[in-house]
Amino acid sequence: MTAIRTFVGGRFIDPEPGHSFDKTNPATGQIFATVHEADADVVDQAVAAARAAAAGWGRTPVRERAAVLRRAADGIEARFDEFVAAEVADTGKPVVLARELDVARASANFRTYADVVSAAGQESFLTDLPGGKQALNYAVRKPLGVVAVIVPWDLPLLLLTWKVSAALACGNTVVVKPSEFTPSTATLLAEVLADAGLPAGAYNVVHGFGATGAALAGHRGIDGVTFTGSTATGTRVMQTVAPRVRPVSFELGGKNAAVVFDDVDLDEAVTGLSRAIFTNTGQVCLCTERVYVQRPIFEDIAAGLVERAKALKLGNPTDESTTTGPLISQQHRDKVRSYLALAEQEGAKVLTGGGVPELGADLDGGSWIEPTLWTGLSNSDRTLREEIFGPVAALIPFDSEEQAIDLANDTDYGLAASVWTNDLRRGHRVAQAMNVGMSWVNTWFLRDLRSPFGGMGMSGIGREGGMSAMEFYTEPTNICVAL
Ligand code: NAD
Repeated sequence: MTAIRTFVGGRFIDPEPGHSFDKTNPATGQIFATVHEADADVVDQAVAAARAAAAGWGRTPVRERAAVLRRAADGIEARFDEFVAAEVADTGKPVVLARELDVARASANFRTYADVVSAAGQESFLTDLPGGKQALNYAVRKPLGVVAVIVPWDLPLLLLTWKVSAALACGNTVVVKPSEFTPSTATLLAEVLADAGLPAGAYNVVHGFGATGAALAGHRGIDGVTFTGSTATGTRVMQTVAPRVRPVSFELGGKNAAVVFDDVDLDEAVTGLSRAIFTNTGQVCLCTERVYVQRPIFEDIAAGLVERAKALKLGNPTDESTTTGPLISQQHRDKVRSYLALAEQEGAKVLTGGGVPELGADLDGGSWIEPTLWTGLSNSDRTLREEIFGPVAALIPFDSEEQAIDLANDTDYGLAASVWTNDLRRGHRVAQAMNVGMSWVNTWFLRDLRSPFGGMGMSGIGREGGMSAMEFYTEPTNICVAL
């Protein structure tokens, strides 16, 4: 049985008796590790260690910080297979996906922020004063200090490194709280960062459930909180942070739409849409759960997506040919199944899926679910208004561009959208009309890490990515010099 320990001040610490929990493989239901649960005292030690390291790391020249980040990227690449195996065991995601998406993106995050921080400048103004004199205004960026990083389980290493690399690049130290479902890669990263020359205390890991996250977010030694997770938890974190008025960056849930026009290349659109619906068993905040299709091609798109759903290969995540893993937990499967039942109560016609697959004795203890597509629902149904976070989507017909925009924007969320069309002008026009943080045309989840990422409405507050991240993770001080 592997022990996954908390990392504080540059060393792993052993759990107190009774302060640990089991980690289960979601594909098999088997327990394979014991995880150290950090209580408020351990969180306190982690924040103190981060505070002690903050001044030194914050004053480290940008060139040296960038070099540490680049060595961290090298370190992830050197231990690539270990990271992949850890991510697959924690999440049950297919090994091919962990390789191509999660772990590849982790090293890319470190390289990107090494580049961004090295190139970042600041604006300055020459101010004309009465009498012909001038003043020079310029700003300097200072790190926030100690940043709490709280992340979910869907893309554990990808999302963790997205925040940690930017925070460290800006000279902050961090205390990270990975999801209780995915503790492994954050722990491996501690070793890689230490080997890369990051000073002890600059990266600390506290494992645990919501209580550990709440102790961290509400700690008086925290200077900012970056949180990715559900909207419900985000509101709780906001309340926890509010009394101390600390900056927050929130990347929350979504109920993302795709809009498919009848001029589209059918095969290309079906390929792109099936990725958008089923990648990571629908457990990516950016996944599409609402597909609006122009009426003349509705039946063709539906038939194409059903064919793709049926071709997905659910199975052992370590098999190279597996395309689709389980959901993260039995608890999450119960939630997704409750929506499968709700959709039928709301009058959905099930085109494919709708239940739990039988995959044989080895996998029967896992939290598997069938990829599912529905028609017959409308925007007033709860199935179309609430985030389900599984391999499911509803297909809804529309007639005009205006109607499609209204339908797509009729949601409390505002994370992402995709538009599928061969009409160049329409693509730009409709993408811009989407009330979301990210709008794709004829693609999905294609990211340039220098561009802003985040959501509107209940999908979040603020943007990270490129210079947007520099803005969140630093405080500018304006300096005005009379010349
Ligand atoms: P979650 O909100 O349940 O948990 C997220 C993290 O918060 C976990 O580490 C958890 O332990 C911690 N937590 C729980 N209660 C807390 C509290 N009271 N105070 C502080 N921390 C607390 O989310 P999840 O189920 O792990 O992840 C799925 C959700 O994340 C989905 O809603 C998905 O859309 C969202 N998500 C958003 C993005 C984005 O970029 N917008 C990316 C990935 C996932």
